[in-house]
Amino acid sequence: MERPAKLVIASHNPGKLREIEDLLRPLGIAVVGAAALGLAEPDETGHTFAENAALKARTAAEAAKLPALADDSGLAVAALDGAPGIYSARWAGPGKDFRLAMEKVEAALKGKSDRRAKFVAALALAWPDGRCDVFEGEVEGALVWPPRGARGFGYDPMFVPDGHAITFGEMEPARKHEMSHRARAFAKLVKAWSA
Ligand code: IMP
Repeated sequence: MERPAKLVIASHNPGKLREIEDLLRPLGIAVVGAAALGLAEPDETGHTFAENAALKARTAAEAAKLPALADDSGLAVAALDGAPGIYSARWAGPGKDFRLAMEKVEAALKGKSDRRAKFVAALALAWPDGRCDVFEGEVEGALVWPPRGARGFGYDPMFVPDGHAITFGEMEPARKHEMSHRARAFAKLVKAWSA
């Protein structure tokens, strides 16, 4: 698969931008943020992580006339049929209150014994001519209550990855980044570039 020399990161989230820049720097790929180019954020009207990632990447690639990379991610809870899923950010409301979002998940799980969940990330790379490839990564685990740890973001404080005793919220960021859904999706993208 063709590897771009420069690409747009189709995200207005400074945390994601930094994380993606860190991953691409060793590959010698120059990056520019969507906000720096004045690109608007499209509505996430897709029904899957992959559709939403592709939508964001395609919109940015067309507008910027450069290859664009977008990420769409979230928490999928087994006993809730995959919710909050693509609505993970929206469960936190306009105030982006993830304590509230975690409380909603916990309330929905009341009386259920299956606490399995996974984080999912879809990464889409789109070109101005319309080509688009999507790579997905997952990390499986279980939900705990009450939330633990002040590191990470989003649902991290209630998620314990399989094989570990601590939540993503308690984990050293470098360790989380080695095993995260986003890191696994990235590894697939980088593998496709080196193939
Ligand atoms: P997006 O920005 O529309 O892709 O929304 C992603 C949402 O999923 C975030 O706002 C978080 O709530 C959740 N999420 C995605 N990745 C993680 C993670 O690594 N830890 C915790 N929450 C995550």
